[in-house]
Amino acid sequence: MNSTVCQSCAMPMENEKMMGKNSDGTRNEEYCVYCYEDGKFTASVSMNEMVEICVPHLVEDGMKENEARETMKDVLPKLKRWAMTSK
Ligand SMILES: [Zn+2]
Repeated sequence: MNSTVCQSCAMPMENEKMMGKNSDGTRNEEYCVYCYEDGKFTASVSMNEMVEICVPHLVEDGMKENEARETMKDVLPKLKRWAMTSK
């Protein structure tokens, strides 16, 4: 199986349970369950806010804080949710 990452927070979605849901109850393959529910984003945040939301999780996984922040700032603008707004 291809590893898919959430197009909002870059979290790897390893199985169907990690995927968000559309308003009709089907799985949304682009966004994770934390970002997307019932056909809409769970939180209306800016890209920079999303960076700050993600950093603590990466630090928990053993990354240094500044390293985690740089990584997110590099990765997020390439994702679908932010691609339009980050220009
Ligand atoms: Zn997500």
